[in-house]
Amino acid sequence: MRLASRMSAIGTETAFEAAARARELEATGRSVIHLEIGEPDFDTPANIRAAAKRGLDEGYTHYGPVLGLPALREAIAADVTARKGFAASPERVVVTPGAKPIMFYAIEALIEPGDEVIFPDPGFPIYESMTRYCGGTPVRLPIRQSNDFRIDLDELAGMITPRTKLLVINSPANPTGGLFTRGDIERIGELAVQHDLVVLADEIYGRIVYEGEHVSLASLPGLADRTIVLDGFSKTYAMTGWRLGYAILPEPLLLPFSRLIVNSVSCTSMFSQVAAVEALTGPQDAVDTMVEEFRARRALIVAGLNAIPGIDCHEPAGAFYVFPDVSGTGLDGAAFADGLLAEAGVCVLAGTAFGQVGRDHVRISYANSRENLAEALRRIGAFVAARSQAGSA
Ligand code: PMP
Repeated sequence: MRLASRMSAIGTETAFEAAARARELEATGRSVIHLEIGEPDFDTPANIRAAAKRGLDEGYTHYGPVLGLPALREAIAADVTARKGFAASPERVVVTPGAKPIMFYAIEALIEPGDEVIFPDPGFPIYESMTRYCGGTPVRLPIRQSNDFRIDLDELAGMITPRTKLLVINSPANPTGGLFTRGDIERIGELAVQHDLVVLADEIYGRIVYEGEHVSLASLPGLADRTIVLDGFSKTYAMTGWRLGYAILPEPLLLPFSRLIVNSVSCTSMFSQVAAVEALTGPQDAVDTMVEEFRARRALIVAGLNAIPGIDCHEPAGAFYVFPDVSGTGLDGAAFADGLLAEAGVCVLAGTAFGQVGRDHVRISYANSRENLAEALRRIGAFVAARSQAGSA
């Protein structure tokens, strides 16, 4: 079969492939600890599940409005206004099956051959994949441990050209856990205005912050008109499998998004949206409990990794990932991840799953029980010790 040539440009998200490899290994009887996938291990809170069941019984089983259930668009606008610090109107809210389609739609709507898209490296792989798929030119903005996993703003300024159309930012970040300061966000806003850029602000980890504050770019004066705010329910409410995301859009993108939704999915699952209303308007204590548990796990994993010779782990300010430098073990991130899965039964991702800059790193998701994390640390320690013995023998 002759596929369209654009299919050679589209990339993937290796986390799903690594998980499949790990499951194959488990099928042979081996024990594997899964630290590869970016999803909370908690159950969706009971009040949210109950709302979905009610939704099913009340007949929310049909097609719904393309841009989302009005009650949910209103609840999102109110929540965004309260938490992100700018007045979001329900008309600018678009609900999608997961937040990922927002990347797809934004890049599809804006980027054509010759357009440059700047995105973080390391960063979520879909930004680059979609840029290439649409014929755009990917421009990688390095994010380094030596800079606290924040952007070097002078470096960013130097990368902007007259062809730069879209800037993607992600704070708190996957895969590094880095968080931009208010000063960083203000400078990014100035550059966006000065160079007439559209910004895709991926704020999916905005509620999972341990130190400092999450600042939404759209809260700066005038920035909401050039910022696509991406957020959703997967991480905050442990709802990855429900597929619920949303964007707050600049007005000119509403019609293109509407068309793209009609052409691809028609609408988002209706009873899921009923549950999402409950997630936003019901009690929030489950979110706080989850973040506090992540905080304890962060302490465990950072201290445990730094106690292993050759591993240098920075303490992340947000999200639920660490992105340690493992080069001191004599291995790069890919060799470390491969060896660790095959020899010790711990599945992590190579830094190169997120770009080129993090080749000495691995990404570890600590969205797993403290018990499993402690056992993973023991296995990682034994793996590194065996390696260094083999190296010195
Ligand atoms: N943005 C980032 C940075 C992510 O890590 C993820 C999920 N791994 C998403 C967006 C998408 O989340 P979802 O489609 O589940 O809403």
